[in-house]
Amino acid sequence: MIAKDKVLDYLDELFFDARCELIYHKDYELLIATVLSAQCTDKRVNMVTQKLFSKYDIFSLAKIPIKNIESIIRPVGTYTRKSIYIKEIATRLVESYGGKVPNDREFLESLPGVGRKTCNVVLSNLYNEPAIAVDTHVERVSKRLKLARKNDSVLEVEKKLMKYFPKDKWSRVHHQLVLFGRYKCKSISPLCEDCKFQEFCTYKKR
Ligand code: SF4
Repeated sequence: MIAKDKVLDYLDELFFDARCELIYHKDYELLIATVLSAQCTDKRVNMVTQKLFSKYDIFSLAKIPIKNIESIIRPVGTYTRKSIYIKEIATRLVESYGGKVPNDREFLESLPGVGRKTCNVVLSNLYNEPAIAVDTHVERVSKRLKLARKNDSVLEVEKKLMKYFPKDKWSRVHHQLVLFGRYKCKSISPLCEDCKFQEFCTYKKR
């Protein structure tokens, strides 16, 4: 298996300032943006949330008709379902936590549209909780580098990454792997030519 220092060093070399590319100014904005990012690019989500949050805060999102949300978030895809999620999330946050996003995994994972990955993103960014959120990029890169097996579930990938990387690096590595997958180790036509992981990479060998 590839030495972890080699992985960490190269990720630092490429993405030293890695951070979440979703734009948010309030805790609930990150939560909702992350829900919207399912099967959608961060760029598109940022365009939509900029409009959504300039018009509505968490309290108004809990009250307005769902069609008002739909008309704004339509570009992100599956907007009908996501609009229902947003209204329900806003309602539950207002009712239970005065509109704040709590550091409470159980509560967050009980919200519609919020799975383990979204929860990890939110807790790690808002509360510095050590976590590795496994999205499509992290999963692909992990499997190409044999940090996980091809048939591993997302949860298995997460567990293997948590075992492989030191805990104090989890959140940083998560952002770096996302960016590495998004901009270099792309799903189609990855930029392998000068990649320092070539000798360990199953995809490149194939
Ligand atoms: S060699 Fe190519 S496929 Fe392999 S990790 Fe590097 S960019 Fe990704």
